Amino acid sequence: MRATKTDAGVKEKKAKREFYAEAMETFHRAADLVELHPRVRLELEEPDFEHIFYVTLEVRDRLVPLPAEEEPPFADLRASSVKAGEALEPLANGHFLLHRRALLAADITVRDGVLRIPSRGLFRIVKGGPRKFKAYRIQHNQVRGPYKGGIRFHKDASLDLFKTLAAEMTWKTAIADVPFGGAKGGIRIDPQAYSREEIEHLSLRYVYKFKNFMGPYLDIPAPDVNTNAEIMAIMMRQFLDGERNKHAMKGVVTGKDVRIGGSEGRLKATGQGLVFCLEEWARGRGLPLRGARVLLQGFGNVGAAAAEFLSALGARIVAVNDAFGTVHSDAGIDVAALTQHVHQNRDNLRRTVAGFPGAAAISKEEFWRLEADVLVPAALGGEIDGDVAEHLRVQVVAEGANGPTTLEGDRVLAERGIDVIPDIIANSGGVTVSYYEWLQNQRVEHWAEQEVVTRLERAIKSNYAIIRDIAQGRPQRTELHDSRPFCLTRPVDARAAAMVLALKRIEAHYLLEGFSN
Ligand code: NAD
Repeated sequence: MRATKTDAGVKEKKAKREFYAEAMETFHRAADLVELHPRVRLELEEPDFEHIFYVTLEVRDRLVPLPAEEEPPFADLRASSVKAGEALEPLANGHFLLHRRALLAADITVRDGVLRIPSRGLFRIVKGGPRKFKAYRIQHNQVRGPYKGGIRFHKDASLDLFKTLAAEMTWKTAIADVPFGGAKGGIRIDPQAYSREEIEHLSLRYVYKFKNFMGPYLDIPAPDVNTNAEIMAIMMRQFLDGERNKHAMKGVVTGKDVRIGGSEGRLKATGQGLVFCLEEWARGRGLPLRGARVLLQGFGNVGAAAAEFLSALGARIVAVNDAFGTVHSDAGIDVAALTQHVHQNRDNLRRTVAGFPGAAAISKEEFWRLEADVLVPAALGGEIDGDVAEHLRVQVVAEGANGPTTLEGDRVLAERGIDVIPDIIANSGGVTVSYYEWLQNQRVEHWAEQEVVTRLERAIKSNYAIIRDIAQGRPQRTELHDSRPFCLTRPVDARAAAMVLALKRIEAHYLLEGFSN
């Protein structure tokens, strides 16, 4: 028994190591292509710092639904009269938080730790108390500017994942040509199992512990999976509390609400940037986006915004898959109605497309096999593996998520002639507008939305054009861009081309500034 466990552990560790190694494959391939300075390669192939720490939280008591097989002894249990609205707070995983203050006027019957809530059934009371969570912040590289990258709360978060995502940020900030480096971090937690208040306390604790390593000129977090503008607001407050210079330091986080120093256009910037890339891809292919059929995975910040901009251009969103279901409508899904269902419906605790009345439910397998023009993965990494890639019937994969395609998936897509717009350019709109937000904070300015969007469009389209030229081996200078310093002597695939641009921009700093001792 023990031997099996150890074997499993070794296998898991090996798989994790291979995951990071796989993610760095494109880096090494592009480094060979540009003959990257050997010392620069060493500087970049591992992070500057790997911070691993723990955050604690006082968890409230919970009511957990009683499994059907444990119900019989409680068949005669009298119902307790609890005002559900006040006493019970529903969690996205089907459990309830028990607020003791609301029980004061209630008439409760508890037997062996079980109580019956009218019209909801039997629940076991599970005692709360202090809990410990593993937290991370990986600071990959800062040669071009302060560390920059999102904060993710996820049950599968790991050192390996954050190392991979932090390195991606270094490449992305270089491609976007913003003066930042790369970082990523977060907490290993299933946020569905915790209340908003508990998540807030954990976020505050994260900053309390990490404060010495953050700052507008040091390391600047932003939202990522399961974090948002609300969390950024309280993280900023926690950081600024007690600082003499606090009004000058709002740039310590980006992705804030526009009313407290956020930038117009930031909320939708990643989806907007992705659509700017798709416009350029479609122009290059001579295909109109009007009428194009789109498959979308993920309907969170990135996915919902991409859907909105694509449908405004006349594209048809024919199916959307997320963590809890998939919906399909051949005539095209009404994006505004889906947004209402997912993001403005207080009862939809899991913020899922499942149950959307305006489309039919299908399986995830069916989703990958639908015929369409464009696939936008905007959920998690590793979704498009060799098998999925084998069955896709689209012309282009525009990577909204970070690392959605595995190495094998990439190989199959190339073999089948399906284009890829790589994540490090396709989803760079978010960090680009984060830079504008940081700049506005430093200058104490507030730019109009049109100004932000115009700057973003110019930035994304010129960097996209440079990458396209590198891929095609066609150096040129236009009014919008100059790809001559970056092109190689022969064409390369789009992913390598994007990495070539990143590495040449990063390497210049080491070559011109030298290495500090
Ligand atoms: P989000 O938390 O707002 O949304 C995530 C979406 O993915 C949800 O719809 C969720 O249901 C879905 N999802 C989760 N697990 C899934 C699974 N196993 N199968 C199918 N769907 C699943 O997150 P977000 O901010 O929109 O980020 C999405 C992706 O984009 C991530 O990879 C993130 O790193 C990347 N990204 C985000 C930004 C940004 O500005 N928010 C910027 C660059 C890249």
